[in-house]
Amino acid sequence: MSRRTKGCVYLVGAGPGDPGLLTLRAARLLAEADTVVHDRLIHPAVLEHARPHARILYVGKEGGGESVRQEDIHTLLIAQARLGRTVVRLKGGDPFVFGRGGEEALALEAAGIPYEVVPGVSSLAAVPAAAAIPITHRGLSGSVTFATAHRTEGAGAPDWQHLARAETLVLFMAGGRLEETAHALMSAGRAPTTPAAVVEAGTWEHQRVVEAPLSSIAGQAREADVGSPALLVVGAVVSLRSQLRSLAMRPTAADFPLLQVAEGGHE
Ligand code: SAH
Repeated sequence: MSRRTKGCVYLVGAGPGDPGLLTLRAARLLAEADTVVHDRLIHPAVLEHARPHARILYVGKEGGGESVRQEDIHTLLIAQARLGRTVVRLKGGDPFVFGRGGEEALALEAAGIPYEVVPGVSSLAAVPAAAAIPITHRGLSGSVTFATAHRTEGAGAPDWQHLARAETLVLFMAGGRLEETAHALMSAGRAPTTPAAVVEAGTWEHQRVVEAPLSSIAGQAREADVGSPALLVVGAVVSLRSQLRSLAMRPTAADFPLLQVAEGGHE
């Protein structure tokens, strides 16, 4: 990438956590950026790709507090670009999967700022995979429905009938709402015996998985004190975990140092 005199913004996906899942393009852009604006859930080793003198601005939630307002993030991105800077807006997973990347792209479009979207590895498939769950599997599931348990004010309740019929259901931001979610799915007709799993911090060093039938997944997750980020997977594919034991036992990238970004850069 040649340094432009006119500022621009790259909306970049950082992957689900494991720094080895960053794309080459993301790493290159980070190494060129004047300003990096990032959310929570970005592995520290990912930020090590940035230039030593780059401005690193954090706009995520601080310990369960308020996050920076979305409009303020738009204003920040536009202002940095107008100063002539190359801005990397770094988001967990993929920018267009529940990442508000679309809102930021619309704001940049409206402001006439040049921008690009650099896809990332979404937790959608990567996090179940890290827990030994293939989200599709011949004979078990030929489709995946993904949705968020979190709704913004006025967006209405999820269509539980629709979600209950999914072959594989992957639910984002499920952490705080497992009880209601499992209950709503069963009330809408999903069998209480359906295999389910909650994956906390998938692909991170501290990944944890709780597996149980839908009827008891919320209780088990509560008992294990599962926190955020967490993904709920519901469907027959979850039962494959017991047969993919070497994958299920593989802890995370922490045990595979060669897959990690070398500390401090390229040496
Ligand atoms: N753009 C992201 C999703 C952002 S929404 C992506 O493509 O992955 C944030 C939600 O994503 C979290 O609440 C959680 O449900 C899920 N998530 C993201 N990273 C995760 C991880 N490493 N482990 C478990 N869930 C994760």
